Amino acid sequence: MTATAHLADPASRRHAYEPVIGLEVHCQLNTATKIFCNCSTQFGADPNANVCPVCLGMPGVLPVLNAKVLEYAVKAGLALNCRIAPYSKFDRKQYFYPDLPKNYQISQYDLPIAEGGWLEAPLSDGTSKRIGITRLHMEEDAGKLVHAGSDRLAGSSHSLVDYNRAGYPSARSSPNPTSARRKKRQPMPKSCGGFCGTWASATATCRKAPSAAMSTFRCAPWVSPSLAPRSKSKT
Ligand SMILES: [Zn+2]
Repeated sequence: MTATAHLADPASRRHAYEPVIGLEVHCQLNTATKIFCNCSTQFGADPNANVCPVCLGMPGVLPVLNAKVLEYAVKAGLALNCRIAPYSKFDRKQYFYPDLPKNYQISQYDLPIAEGGWLEAPLSDGTSKRIGITRLHMEEDAGKLVHAGSDRLAGSSHSLVDYNRAGYPSARSSPNPTSARRKKRQPMPKSCGGFCGTWASATATCRKAPSAAMSTFRCAPWVSPSLAPRSKSKT
């Protein structure tokens, strides 16, 4: 049987793929100001009201890390039972998109703030399952595009950009990849601590043995009852 004929058979096709779930969970850190400048993180402000040369990425500006972001990232790492790095650094993640005014995102690559943790997730049968956490790192968020006449670019007459969100502090955790065939799908934490936030997103990889293919979906968030949100910090 040729490779094509093999995939034409529905029963064979079902077993040709092994879903390997690799999740990225973004938590907005609940600080009063952005990660590298003193602009407010107040939600609901007028578009482009909370911006400055730093978060707009003007030439010659000097981003300065908000100490509260570091504190919350360390607390998030500890809450996820990670090893906190004695030395950590930021990196530039180059990409070109209208919601990223300086054309790169300040993120962490090879030396994240926390690695090697785990999270105990309750299951519907009363038991729990331990989910490994590969890493957690700090990064800045991008701005927000608003498409006129549609909720997406397709069908819109024009697009507007709001940079209020550019520079919001975010902690991104990456749980260990899990085979969905061998294990039940797990809920993911919307909040990685009382210091964390308001949204979460996730991606999944679908691997076709022996090669690889990619697909993406969004997971339903889950808030741990022991990790209730706190009020906003003063910085
Ligand atoms: Zn700013």
